[in-house]
Amino acid sequence: MGLNSVGVKRIIGINAVGSLKEEMRPGGDVVIPDQFIDFTKRRDSTFYDGPSVYHISTADPFCPDVNSALASQARAMGGKRVHDSGTYVVIEGGPRFSTRAESKMFRQFGGDIIGMTLVPEVVLADEMAMCYSVLATVTDYDVWSEKPVDTSEVLRVMKENEDVVREVVRETVPRISGERKCNCSSRLENAKA
Ligand SMILES: [Zn+2]
Repeated sequence: MGLNSVGVKRIIGINAVGSLKEEMRPGGDVVIPDQFIDFTKRRDSTFYDGPSVYHISTADPFCPDVNSALASQARAMGGKRVHDSGTYVVIEGGPRFSTRAESKMFRQFGGDIIGMTLVPEVVLADEMAMCYSVLATVTDYDVWSEKPVDTSEVLRVMKENEDVVREVVRETVPRISGERKCNCSSRLENAKA
């Protein structure tokens, strides 16, 4: 059973991500992405592969209202640097991490953070006209900086940030639970092929 069919209107994804920018620092900087670049290749990423087809707009794939609630809540808790926007590069992984050349390319493409889980879930939520936002914490500098990321480091930083992430989500949920004023619910309008 899908989240949509049980009446869910908003989704907050929790992600641990690598940083592609000096100023998004590992150790728990919080990033609320507002764009993504999809480098996944083999994942099923639509509900509309026929017979009905909707070409939804993902020009602005995240919910602006949930994004801003998450950012202000994270900021209000203090202790974390909060980035209100960022471009999230999504790779499939193999589940390997990137090569140095790939990581440098993603930086040049304008990526700010990198992870493996955002797509297709953001796209599928958009296709169901749900609100979707992500609270990402930065665990590492991927592999473009001197010391390449390893899994144990990612897990250590994730663990350190668990309580903060849980608290931000707990405090944000009641603030976004009213009627939706964003445009996420109208994503399917004029999208049917
Ligand atoms: Zn929304």
